[in-house]
Amino acid sequence: MYNVPLPNGDFYAQYNSVVDGKLDLEYISALTDLKASIKYRYAEYEQSKKNLEAVPEVSRTAGEAKALLSCYSPSLKQRLLSELRDRLPKRITELAKTVDETIRCPYCQLEPAGRWDHFLPSGRFPDFAMYSPNLIYVCEPCNSGIKKDDLVSPIRSTVNPYYDALDSTSLLECVVSVVKVNDERKLLLNFAINNKAGGCAYLVPLAIRHFCAYGLEAKFISVSAEELVGLINDYHFMFGLRGRHLTQVELDAWVESKRSSIRTLYPSQNYWKNALWVGIQACSDLLAYLMERCDRARARPPLP
Ligand SMILES: [Zn+2]
Repeated sequence: MYNVPLPNGDFYAQYNSVVDGKLDLEYISALTDLKASIKYRYAEYEQSKKNLEAVPEVSRTAGEAKALLSCYSPSLKQRLLSELRDRLPKRITELAKTVDETIRCPYCQLEPAGRWDHFLPSGRFPDFAMYSPNLIYVCEPCNSGIKKDDLVSPIRSTVNPYYDALDSTSLLECVVSVVKVNDERKLLLNFAINNKAGGCAYLVPLAIRHFCAYGLEAKFISVSAEELVGLINDYHFMFGLRGRHLTQVELDAWVESKRSSIRTLYPSQNYWKNALWVGIQACSDLLAYLMERCDRARARPPLP
C-alpha cells in the first residue's frame, strides 16, 4: 500500500475527444446524449474522492452502458492507456528504477504492475470506464484474482493509492519474535496494520480491511523468507571471517545499517521490507537466534 500521484488533465475534454473521434455510429448518439450527465458524474466522483463508496450507481440502459464501455475498444484502449501511463509522474518510474526497474502494484506492493484496474468497477459504474482517476496501475493477480465488486461497496475494502493518505501514516508493522520449538530457536513473523496508527479516522479500519481482503499477511511472510535467509547467511559469513560472534552493540549497528539502506531504496514507510527490518531491529532475541544457527551449522559434520 503506497500512494501514487494522481493523473492530471481535463478528463471531460478527454471524454469529448473520444466521443468526437468515435467511428461506431451505433454508439455516437448515446455517447453524445450522455455528455452533460458524464460531466456531472465526473464532478460527483471528484467531490467523493475520500469516500468513493458513496458515489451512487446510476441506472443506464443496456445501449448506454455498452457505448460507455466501448470507449475501450482495442485500438482506442491502447492509445488511452498509453497516454495515461505517460502521465504517471516520473517519481514513480525513477523510484522503481533505483530498485529493480519495476513499478510495483500499489495494492500488494509485491507483483509488477501491468494492468489498469477500474477502482469503481466498470460493470457497475460504466460512467467512469475511461475516467483516469478511476484507473489504477496494478498487478494481474490484484486486478483479476482478488478484487471483487464488493471490495468497493457498500463498505470499501480497497485503499485508493491516489486519495487515501497512505504514505504519511505508519500503518504496517511487523513483529519479529524468537520462539523455542524442541530446543531449537525459530523466528516468528507477524505482519499487521497498527490499529493505533494516527491519520484520518477512516484510514486504519480501511487499511485493515484491505490487508485482510488481499491476503497480505501470508504474502508478506512468504516474501520475507528470502530476506531472513540473507540475514542468516550474512551473519554466518561475518562470524566465519571473524572467528567469533558479534557483540550486541556490533549486531545493532549492523542491523541499523541494513535497515537504513532498505529505507533509502524504499521510502514508503508502509513497504513490507521496511516494516520487516524495523521488526528485526526490535527483536531482543535476534543475537541468540543467530548464534545458535551458526553454532548448529558449524557442528554439522562435513559432507562426504
Ligand atoms: Zn497487486
